[in-house]
Amino acid sequence: MVVTDNIDQIRQKRWQDPTVSWGLVPTMGALHDGHLALVKKARMENERVAASIFVNPTQFAAGEDLSTYPRPLERDLAMLDAAGVDLVFTPTADIMYPAGFQSKVEVTRLSRFLEGASRPAHFAGVTLIVCKLFNIFQPTRAYFGQKDAQQTVILNRMVQDLNLNLELVICPTQRASDGLALSSRNQYLSPAERAAATVLNQALQTAAKLIKEGETRGDTIRRTMGELISGEPLARIDYVSAADLNTLEELDTLKGDVLLSLAVFFGQTRLIDNVMMYDI
Ligand code: AMP
Repeated sequence: MVVTDNIDQIRQKRWQDPTVSWGLVPTMGALHDGHLALVKKARMENERVAASIFVNPTQFAAGEDLSTYPRPLERDLAMLDAAGVDLVFTPTADIMYPAGFQSKVEVTRLSRFLEGASRPAHFAGVTLIVCKLFNIFQPTRAYFGQKDAQQTVILNRMVQDLNLNLELVICPTQRASDGLALSSRNQYLSPAERAAATVLNQALQTAAKLIKEGETRGDTIRRTMGELISGEPLARIDYVSAADLNTLEELDTLKGDVLLSLAVFFGQTRLIDNVMMYDI
């Protein structure tokens, strides 16, 4: 496995044989089985697999966890090596954003809802860095987790809008045995918060069941999720949502493809999770 922070070396590897297919898995490191599921899928679908590890400062707001975000680089590299990754890009912020940098990549409307309402500059940072990574690697396919549902919707839009020549592959959310979505941020949780956090998946599953049984009132679904989570004293809701999966707008009446999603604080730690429901 080649590990480099050098963009020219990435390009040289990528284009050594232009007929070879490449899958790219962008990450911020602190890897877990969710990331490895993306690598595994990329491994199955491409002749070569690349990953990036970069805690991207432009997607963090002041006061968020940029400085404390876990960075266990040696462990991450060992995991990627064992998973069969060929090439890992580990740039510094200076390499990605050298002096004089001033460009933007934004998907304007979709970035305002849900996560974007709570984290206004977040997706501009995500689309900027992902666009740069796509330009650096020019992968055949790029792999993202459904865990970050809005991110997948926004990146799909970006790929279409900017005519980017690659396929996005969205992989299912990997969960702990008690249903909590795996996240690098779970390690911030105290044991009591970790136990309480199972309420997130429970709330989503309860809402999904109600919808399958015929409930179509958006307010009822949002209220049900809100009440279940509020019953957990360690949880503090940021938002609960039942939105159109394509426009991300809240729905009065659920129909078509629906994204049930939520963001909830446990202490200082903000967790997100979601369920997608199709053809309601
Ligand atoms: P991150 O390192 O948190 O930026 O995540 C890198 C990629 O892994 C993103 O595409 C995430 O959506 C994906 N990912 C994170 N957690 C999970 C999970 N539990 N299951 C599947 N994919 C995930």
